[in-house]
Amino acid sequence: MFTHPFYHPGKFQEMHAHCPVCGINFEPETGFYWGAMYISYAITVAISVSVGVAIRVLFGPGLNINIYIASIIAMILLSVPVSFRVSRAIMLSFISPYKYDPDFEWDGKLKEDDEVIG
Ligand SMILES: [Zn+2]
Repeated sequence: MFTHPFYHPGKFQEMHAHCPVCGINFEPETGFYWGAMYISYAITVAISVSVGVAIRVLFGPGLNINIYIASIIAMILLSVPVSFRVSRAIMLSFISPYKYDPDFEWDGKLKEDDEVIG
């Protein structure tokens, strides 16, 4: 789905325009991934709450609020490439017109496609 590994700085968001295996269009309509923003928001909230609860459980009460804020912000920034990709994958899996085809047989060759979106 993506052209570079998630840890590639500046290019983690680049996607193939078409699937190299089956050739489907990864952007079925213009602005398709706007909805992924809301999924990404939900993931970010889940990460924030998890980090806050983890700090509280690990270090107990009485910790400075700035430690919570700094830890949560750091975790959000570190998770940007992953939450970006996961939210786009969820968007494509559940909201796109494409359905899983159990009869699809891959010939083992990747299709050439230099077009990149994102
Ligand atoms: Zn495919």
